[in-house]
Amino acid sequence: MNIKVKKQFYIISFLILVLYTGSAFAQEVVVYSARKEHLVKPVFDLYEKETGVEIKYITDKAPSLLQRIKAEGKNTPADLLITVDAGNLWHAAKEKVLHPVNSTVLSANIPNHLRDPENKWFGLSLRARTIVYSTKRVGTSELSTYEDLAKPEWKKRLVLRTSKKVYNQSLVAMIIKEHGEAETSNIVKGWVKNLAAPPFSSDTKVMESIIAGQGDAGIVNTYYFGRLAKKNPAIPIALFWPNQSSGGVHVNVSGAGVTAASKNKPAAIKFLEWLSTQKAQQIFADVNMEYPVNPDVPVNSAVSSWGSFKESQINLANAGENQTKAIQLMDRVGYK
Ligand code: FE
Repeated sequence: MNIKVKKQFYIISFLILVLYTGSAFAQEVVVYSARKEHLVKPVFDLYEKETGVEIKYITDKAPSLLQRIKAEGKNTPADLLITVDAGNLWHAAKEKVLHPVNSTVLSANIPNHLRDPENKWFGLSLRARTIVYSTKRVGTSELSTYEDLAKPEWKKRLVLRTSKKVYNQSLVAMIIKEHGEAETSNIVKGWVKNLAAPPFSSDTKVMESIIAGQGDAGIVNTYYFGRLAKKNPAIPIALFWPNQSSGGVHVNVSGAGVTAASKNKPAAIKFLEWLSTQKAQQIFADVNMEYPVNPDVPVNSAVSSWGSFKESQINLANAGENQTKAIQLMDRVGYK
């Protein structure tokens, strides 16, 4: 090599090195999160600490974030969308803003029924939508299934959250998957007949109404019960695991998907994979009193004190696929 060529060779090698190390070490991942800041920041901080990859994020309601990603199109800075409820995740995939990720890590860590069959979204924490009851007025022998709450024995004893909330839309969508529309319609009609009060705006209000003696049983997400029980361990309500000799307890997830327009997919996938591993799973579940989706990760002791249960194995994509049917069905039977 003559001197000039040699010099060029060194300059080019140096530039390649700078580019390579630049992309390997000075990375960032941008997250749009519909999960609240205090529930995501602890895992983001840990990832930054462990890898040096910066996690930038904004938080907002799920529909606003989806609208924003769509409006930003190819120019969206978002690499990852985090949101709650499979109904919302399914909707984002349907709107084509998510990119399929074929990852052996994610397939190994997250059970089949808690992730999209097309790999566009993955559950990261699990919550059960189960029965809550008054320990003063209800014996556990009276309780058995979601379907049973439609029976006349529960007249003027049932309290529910509004049908406008995606959690109930997903619950009914999954019941449609299990029983078909006609039977589900009868079940939900029965629930409405049994209501002790008009539907409430939150799961917490459902539980407060049971504590106040307005209703005897309701349906709520486990972590809302956890929050109340943490504040007051002596509350006169408890969780019941229904459908143990049939389809299992209805569960749902908070989860994430890599955006279709991400310019940083390898880094986003790595972060998503990391979120399915032990340490991240533990924190992600514990901050909201949820269950890890990764079955190898132990459940927090406060959460495990509620007892173990058999969960529904129906894929959560059905919560999205049957969402419109569920909304129309609830409207038809007068579930406000
Ligand atoms: Fe919630």
